[in-house]
Amino acid sequence: MDKIEHIGIAVKDLKKSNKLFARLFGSAHYKIEEVASEGVKTSFFKSGHSKIELLEASNQDSAIAKFIEKKGEGIHHIAFEVSDIISEIARLKSEGFIILNETPKKGADNKLVAFLHPKSANGVLIELCQEID
Ligand code: ZN
Repeated sequence: MDKIEHIGIAVKDLKKSNKLFARLFGSAHYKIEEVASEGVKTSFFKSGHSKIELLEASNQDSAIAKFIEKKGEGIHHIAFEVSDIISEIARLKSEGFIILNETPKKGADNKLVAFLHPKSANGVLIELCQEID
C-alpha cells in the first residue's frame, strides 16, 4: 500500500459541511460527485498530498445513511492508494482480511475501489483505491 489517498467522513448535510470544511482548510472543495450505485454524494478537498472525501447519503438504504444512524457523523473510512488493486486484494485475503467486494468497483474520483470489512481491521473500514488510467 502506498500513501493515504483520502479519509472519508460521513456527513448529514453536504452543503453545510462543504462550508465548514472550506473554513477549516481555507479553500473550497474542488469537486462534487454522485456515485449512484453506492447511494452517495461526495465532495473532495485537497489537504497537501492527501484528500478529504465528504459523503452524504443520497437515499435511506445507503451505507452512509446506516452508518450515521448507528454512529453519527464522523470518520467513515481510510483509503490507501495501491498500484495493483487485484494483487493487493489477493494479498490481503491471504492475510486473513475480509474483503467486502473481491471484484473492484468504480468509485468516486476516477478510482477502482475495494473495501475491507471493519471487523477484520480493528473496527476501521479500509478502502483500497487505484487510479483508472
Ligand atoms: Zn473513499
